[in-house]
Amino acid sequence: MHSQITTIVTIFMTAGVLNLYLSLHVLIKRHHYTKIIYLFMVYTALIAVYCFAAGFGLLATSLDEVKVWTFFQYFGIAVTPSLGLLLIVQYLGFHITKKVFMAVLAIPIITMFMVATNDFHHLHYKVFEFDATLGKPYIHQEIGIWYSVHGAFIFASMLIAFFLLLFRWKETDKIYRPQLIALMGSQLIPMTAALVYSLGLTPKGFDPVPAVLVVSSSLFLWAIRSSSLFRNMPVAKERIFNSINDGVVVLDNQHRLIEFNQAYSQMFPKLKRSMLGMRYQEVWNLLMATPMPYTLDATAISQEIWLAEAGRTYQVRLSALQQANHQNGLVLIFNDITELKDLQLKLERLAYYDELTQIYNRRAFFDKCMQMYEEAKEQNNHFTVMLMDIDYFKKVNDTYGHAVGDLVLAHVAQVCKSQLTDKALFARYGGEEFVLALSNCSIVDAEELANQIRQAVESTPLVADDLIVGTTISVGVAEATIELEETLYQLLNAADKALYNAKHNGRNCVYQAPTE
Ligand code: GH3
Ligand code: MG
Ligand code: MG
Repeated sequence: MHSQITTIVTIFMTAGVLNLYLSLHVLIKRHHYTKIIYLFMVYTALIAVYCFAAGFGLLATSLDEVKVWTFFQYFGIAVTPSLGLLLIVQYLGFHITKKVFMAVLAIPIITMFMVATNDFHHLHYKVFEFDATLGKPYIHQEIGIWYSVHGAFIFASMLIAFFLLLFRWKETDKIYRPQLIALMGSQLIPMTAALVYSLGLTPKGFDPVPAVLVVSSSLFLWAIRSSSLFRNMPVAKERIFNSINDGVVVLDNQHRLIEFNQAYSQMFPKLKRSMLGMRYQEVWNLLMATPMPYTLDATAISQEIWLAEAGRTYQVRLSALQQANHQNGLVLIFNDITELKDLQLKLERLAYYDELTQIYNRRAFFDKCMQMYEEAKEQNNHFTVMLMDIDYFKKVNDTYGHAVGDLVLAHVAQVCKSQLTDKALFARYGGEEFVLALSNCSIVDAEELANQIRQAVESTPLVADDLIVGTTISVGVAEATIELEETLYQLLNAADKALYNAKHNGRNCVYQAPTE
């Protein structure tokens, strides 16, 4: 009998030493590990306390002494299953809030209190005394209600932790599998021992749990050495895939949908996992009413698409998938650039549009006109410009005030614009002057258009509240002579001269630039 106890105590103490070693080892080398190590340190230290207390309990001579060691056992073991669960949950990459942390520790803390005060309420152990037949130090115990509550709780904690790890098995890289085995063993081994013990299948009076901890702590040592447990953490690829803010779609070599991430399914809420395996073109047709606005060509650089239904703009980047079994597959990355695009448009508007008339400003005119003129020269096309100036505008300001003057300006700009096609480049040149550039338009056609605009302005006065303000414009037209190769400034100068002539000759008329 004596030697049997010695053996058991030795095994318990060995488990204690192993756990103490683990705890001290990670404490000393903490800088080499990830932060999770602090939880592991407390975890193994408490297991060590449990194993030592279990050993000392067997060496105790009085029942009071046994009770003290039992309390220390609980001090160690009550919290460890919860800590184990928290450790594993964190190891798997889930975030734990302080509240959850405290909630998980609540029951173990109550348990410690229950064990310490058991003599007063007998809720944990109904009976706790030396075994009449086996004698000291074997204990005969009858469990109370709280013992069952706590038992169920720790059993559930270990089972949940075990299955969380098991579900990660498939997606965990081979080199990290020893880590999973150690962590799963740390849950499964004591859990099985506790189950066998509670079913009364172990020798009477013998709690196998501290003994089997030798095995689980050896597994930890093995995993720390073989696969750098807590040093290199396996990050679940799926979690990375789903945490990417861009929508990611993976297609195989036949352009069939093989994977997509969460961000993508949020961009296209009609997308279902049942669509996996379908051709992407078909998937698109099911998701969107409009045809696919981009090509599935990995050589294409990024393509910008506007999805009217969602009211959003995406930049779609394609790249070839070079994996052995999905050769020539494609990865599509959808980046939501709506805000960026809005900002770009706003800035463009600010830089290129005249605030008062909402037509292009002088800067926009020159930027765009230079290019237009170059193209016309290259293609040997007619190129005409016209300058328009409101007649007696000063009088409008003087008679009706500057505010009405502003309204007239904006009104004239809109009347002119209404006579033009999209191809015409129309801008506010400055003050009450406007400029128009036309490609592929001869001076004859330009003069006709100028007269049309002039008449439209004359016959469309501004009507505002009880005011009717009529205005007219004078126009100077000039056509580029390709052979002379004049600059745009020279051409505008010619138009200005023509405008001067129009003003000089009575206003509300159109003049051509004098030929050189
Ligand atoms: P002309 O027929 O010879 O062109 O006579 P005009 O009075 O139109 O010519 P002038 O160049 O002497 O006057 C242009 C006026 O346009 C002077 C200026 O105060 C006014 N003006 C320029 N920009 C604005 C503007 O943004 N708003 C208002 N209300 N007036 C403006
Ligand atoms: Mg004027
Ligand atoms: Mg003027």
